[in-house]
Amino acid sequence: MEVNRIILDLPIKSPEYSNVYILENDDEYAVVDGGFVGEKHSEIIKSKLEELDIPLNKTKFLITHHHIDHVGIVLWKKVSSYMHPLEIPFLKLYTDPDYFARPYIEWSGKYSIDMELLKPLYSFFKSSKKMVGYSTGVKIETKSRVQVVEDGEKIGMIRVVHTPGHSPGHLAFYLPDEGVIFSGDVVLSVTTTHVGYYPGYSIDPIGDHMRTLKKLLEMEIDTIYPAHEDIVKNPDRRIQELLNHYRARMEEVHSCIDGEMRVIEVAHRISWSAGSFEDLDPWGKVLAVSETLAFLKRLSADGRVKEREVNGVVHFTV
Ligand SMILES: [Zn+2]
Repeated sequence: MEVNRIILDLPIKSPEYSNVYILENDDEYAVVDGGFVGEKHSEIIKSKLEELDIPLNKTKFLITHHHIDHVGIVLWKKVSSYMHPLEIPFLKLYTDPDYFARPYIEWSGKYSIDMELLKPLYSFFKSSKKMVGYSTGVKIETKSRVQVVEDGEKIGMIRVVHTPGHSPGHLAFYLPDEGVIFSGDVVLSVTTTHVGYYPGYSIDPIGDHMRTLKKLLEMEIDTIYPAHEDIVKNPDRRIQELLNHYRARMEEVHSCIDGEMRVIEVAHRISWSAGSFEDLDPWGKVLAVSETLAFLKRLSADGRVKEREVNGVVHFTV
C-alpha cells in the first residue's frame, strides 16, 4: 500500500498542523481524515488526488473522529466517508451548535464550571458554524454520505480499530500485513493527547484512552501515522511513555484533593505544562478543567475518590 502524506496548516495555535494520508493499492483508494472544516483543506486534498490521478468518487474517506481539524471534507464535499456510529451525532456541532447548549449548561451546573470559562468553547462552535458555510448559504448534507463502521470491520485491506478516549467513537485504521496504523489523535510523537470529560462522551474517557493504548501495545505495529506531528517509528516505547504520563497525572490529581473539592479547585492545584491554571489562556482553561474532571472520574471508577452532590454540585473527596 502506497502512502502519501499531506501536511495541512491549522488556523489554531495547537496543534500546528494536521496530517492527511492518501492510501493507494491497485484500484483501491482511501484517504485517512479530511482536514479542517472549510473550503481550503478540502480543495487541497481534492487537487492532490487529481495530481495522483485518483478519482474522488472512487476514494473512501476514513475519518478518525469528529473534531474540527479532521472532518473538513465530509462537511464540504460530496464524498463517501466512514465513521464510528458514536461520532456521527457530534457532526451537529458544526451545523447546529445550539443543539448542544443544554447538555453543556447541565454539565457546567453539575460540576460548577463557570459559564465564563465555557464562552470560548461556545464561540468556537459558533464560529465553526460559520466556517462550514452555514451562514453563507452552502447546504450541508452529512449523514447521507457517512457510512457507519465498527471495530474489526474491514474496508478493503484496511482493518477498523475502535480506539476511544480522545473521543468516544475514535477510530484507527490498521494494515496488519504491513504493521502500519493510522492512529488519529491517540498517539502523537511529541505532545500528549487531550482527554477530557465532556457532555455526550463516555463516563470514563481516561480509562478508555488507557485501554486503547494497551490494546495498541498488543498489536503488531511497526509504524504509527498520527493525525498531527511526526510519524512514530518506535511505537511501543512512545505508547509506554504516554501510559506513564497518564498514570503520573492520575497520582498528581489524587494528591491534589484536600477535603471536599470542586473540579475547578483541583484544577488550580495541578501543575500544567503552560504553568499554573491562571497562566492558561481561556481555551486552555476549558481543556484543563475537563481533563481534571476526566481524571477524577477515573479515580472515582477505581474507588479512590468519592463523589458527593451538595446543592446539585458534585464535590470530590479521597
Ligand atoms: Zn486533532
